[in-house]
This record gives sequence, structure tokens and C-alpha cells, in this order.
Amino acid sequence: MPGMEFNRVTDGVLKKLTDVLGPDGVVTDEETLTPFASDYTEDLVFMPEVAVLPRTAEQVQAIMRIAFEHHVPVTARAGGTGLSGGALPVLGGILLSCHRMNAIVEIDRSNLMGVVEPGVITQVFQEEVEKVGLYYPPDPASRGSCTLGGNVAENAGGPRAVKYGVTKDFVMGLEAVLADGSLIKTGGKLYKDVSGYNLTQLLVGSEGTLAITTKIFFKLLPWPPFRKVLLAPFDSLDKAAIAVTAAFSKGVQPSACELIERDAAQCAIKQLGKEWPHPDAAAHLLLEADGFTEERVDAEAMMMAEACMESGADDVFLAQDEPRMREIWSLRRSIGEAVKSINIYKEEDTVVPRDRIPELIRGVKEIAARYGLLVICYGHAGDGNIHCNIIKTVDDEAWRVALPKAITEIFQHTASLGGQVSGEHGIGYVQKEYLPITQGAVEIGLMKRIKEQFDPTGILNPMKMFL
Ligand SMILES: Cc1cc2nc3c(=O)[nH]c(=O)nc-3n(C[C@H](O)[C@H](O)[C@H](O)COP(=O)(O)OP(=O)(O)OC[C@H]3O[C@@H](n4cnc5c(N)ncnc54)[C@H](O)[C@@H]3O)c2cc1C
Repeated sequence: MPGMEFNRVTDGVLKKLTDVLGPDGVVTDEETLTPFASDYTEDLVFMPEVAVLPRTAEQVQAIMRIAFEHHVPVTARAGGTGLSGGALPVLGGILLSCHRMNAIVEIDRSNLMGVVEPGVITQVFQEEVEKVGLYYPPDPASRGSCTLGGNVAENAGGPRAVKYGVTKDFVMGLEAVLADGSLIKTGGKLYKDVSGYNLTQLLVGSEGTLAITTKIFFKLLPWPPFRKVLLAPFDSLDKAAIAVTAAFSKGVQPSACELIERDAAQCAIKQLGKEWPHPDAAAHLLLEADGFTEERVDAEAMMMAEACMESGADDVFLAQDEPRMREIWSLRRSIGEAVKSINIYKEEDTVVPRDRIPELIRGVKEIAARYGLLVICYGHAGDGNIHCNIIKTVDDEAWRVALPKAITEIFQHTASLGGQVSGEHGIGYVQKEYLPITQGAVEIGLMKRIKEQFDPTGILNPMKMFL
């Protein structure tokens, strides 16, 4: 790996950046820079020396040429909703914000493809696509504020990944700028392409460490018009976790399968001030069926309800009308923010084979209890992806000492179940010390050599992914 010694942003560099972007595209005053200094990762703050706001790929190329020539680090940022610190400018340098590159270039109904710039807000794209009867399923719970560029960089998931796949399953091509300013184009409006190595998929999930994405080609689907949402309360978290596999064993494919522990539901109920059936239940399963015929969706919803009852659910609520379904989803989508508002926290994005979730959660609870910590679990149970939120309930010193030990044990437990340290939030800045728990030295060495090929001087998002 190249060393982490970089140059400061000098007046000469600022002048060159201003020549490319104009004065309104270069931010140096502290007040305007401050929002670029943090994302949604805990309480971490790193001030960039300058933020640049390009509008075109050519401007991104020019920025990278300047950074490359002067050996200044560059951190890409999009919506700033990341949970692993990927967009934090840890070494200062240039913060490259993509928010002005926010055009939906094309929605191609013949090829079922969307072409976008990286700064498009995910929900905005979904709504535009839906207007013409099409569907872009990847829907992180943050979809109202995260962007498609950030989703590609993190390979974001979300509740509907269980049926439709994560962001990578929709990215068919990319345009991106390398560390030295050269522009590459991979894939395109192609459903099949085995012409050489799959650079598109190598860039997806690379967290801004390999290249800066400037254009994305997404596959789209026809919009499934029928939908039913079920909510099943359970008197134990274990029973709810067991019901997840029971639902799939019925031979149905839920379009969402979310597990919500009591504390998580109650935080969201309190924050939104909305009703939720059985708010005191130990856990809820939120299941959704969608499809192209009402009969099929009804039949799938019925089978999921049976699976829940057979696994010990206290009841099953069926939401059929749009307002009720929206209300349930708005509660689910608000859980992340609600849980984080309790206190200082650390979120671990564990992922295991779906049938190991009961063991995962039992183990996580046992480890947290041993360290006197509170852990609140919720997440995309259908994907085996459970967010374990460790909440600070001890004093500063105990938190400082206990937290890394507890997290290490949680990931060792995850690894023993065949899991990984991140299902969808990425490694970024805060998870890199845990990556070796599930990735071997040979694999990490290979990843580092790939990084060197893309970015030989290490200026793209340094201090991320690897120790
Ligand atoms: C309340 C809440 C709920 C969430 N729910 C989910 C969920 O359900 N599923 C999920 O997967 N995630 C979820 N997240 C995490 C987060 O929203 C996703 O990781 C999202 O993809 C980040 O997008 P962003 O636009 O905010 O990116 P940022 O946070 O701005 O950046 C993320 C990474 O992308 C890189 N990057 C940004 N733009 C580019 C570019 N143009 N080229 C190259 N790299 C770039 C950055 O350097 C950084 O490494 C949630 C977050 C919050 C706060």
C-alpha cells in the first residue's frame, strides 16, 4: 500500500480548482465546510481543507488531475448518510461532493434501463421511474436522502433486496474517473456482457477507494401493481427469528422480511407518534408480498401468515390499503434514526445465512450482556442481515474499554456462523479493524493490490477499508 503522507491544499491548488469550477464550486469557509465534515457514522467529525462541487464528468477529471499532480487526498461524498464513515475526509484534503451531478439522464422504456448521474436522490429516481410504470427496487431505509452514487459505492441493500437483490444486481454499466483523471466506461445498456473482467462489479461496493463514479446505467423492472403487508407480533425474539425461515420454507418469496425488536419499534412509535399493533410484543416480523396478480399476492400473504402463526405469532395483521401499508413502512423506515437518537451508539451490520439468525441474535445478546451493554436488533432478516445497535449505557471509560472487545466477539460469533462483518453498510473508516475477522490475509492482500492498480499513489479515500 502506498504511504499515507499527503500534501496540504495550497493556495496554488485552490487557484487551479477555482479555475476549473468557478468560485461557487469551491468551498473553503468553515461554516459551509462543516456539513461536509461528518456523515451518519456515530459522532465522528473530520474537516476537509476544501470542498469541490463539480457539475460534469470533465470537471471531476480536472479535479483528479490536480489532486494527482499535487498528491492531495480526495474523498467523494454523496448524500452523507453512510454508516461506516466512507465519506469522512479523515486526512482533510479535497472533499468531492457529487450533489450537483443530479440529472436523470434517461429512462429508456425500450431497454428497461435508467441512466443517471451519481447525485440523484434514490427516492427521486424511484418515483420518476414509477411514473412510467417501471420499478427500481433497491430501497435503503435512507432513500429520501441517500443518492444513487452512494448506493453504488456501498452496494446498498434495503428491505426489498430479499426478493429483488441489492444495488449490484441493477448496475449494468458505469462511467468513472480514476485517480489520475482518466475516464473509464464499463458495461452499458447490456443484459449480457462477458467482454473481459467485470470492472462494473469491481467498482460497485468499492466505497470511493478505486474511482469516482460519474454516470450509472441501471436495469429497471416492470412495476408490480399488487402488494400486501403483514405485521406479526411475537412474545419472543427467538420465535420471530425462527419464523423467518418458516416463511421461506412455505415456498413463497416475500418482497420484504424485516425483523424488529421491541425497543426498536418503541423508539420509532415514540418518535413518529403513530399507532402500532401490539407495541409491547417482544418482536415483530414485517412481511410483504408483491406481484402481478391479486390472487397470487393474496395466496403468498396467506402462506406467510400461516408460517408466522405456526411459529408462535400472537396474531397477524394484514394491511391491504395503501395508507395503512405506507404507515407501517414509515415506522420501519424511521427505526434507524429513532434508535440512534437514544444515545451514543455503534451499529454493527452483521450478516449470516438466514437460518442462523436465531443463533446470531442469542449470541449477540449474551455478549452484550456480559459487557453490561444494551444492544437493539432489527433489520433485513430475510437476507440474514441484522443491524445490532450497541447503545451507550455505561460511563465513558467503560464504553471505551468494553466496546471494541464486545464488537470483536460479536464478529467472531458472526464468523463462526458463516457470516461477514458487513451486509450492506460497508467497511469505510470504522469497520476496517474488524475486516480481518472474516477475510483472510491472502484475500485482503489481493484487495490491496487491486487498489494499487486503480490508485497507485493512494489519493482516493485514504484510511478506508484496510488497516
Ligand atoms: C436512517 C438510515 C437508514 C439506512 N438504511 C439503509 C438500508 O436500509 N440499506 C443500506 O444499504 N444502507 C442504509 N443506510 C446507509 C446509507 O444510507 C447507505 O450506505 C447509502 O448507500 C449511502 O449513500 P450516500 O449517498 O449517503 O453516500 P455517502 O454517505 O455520501 O457516501 C458513501 C460512500 O460512497 C462514496 N461515494 C459517494 N459518491 C461517490 C461517487 N460518485 N463515486 C465513488 N464513490 C462515491 C463515499 O466516498 C463513501 O465511501 C442507512 C443510513 C441511515 C442514516
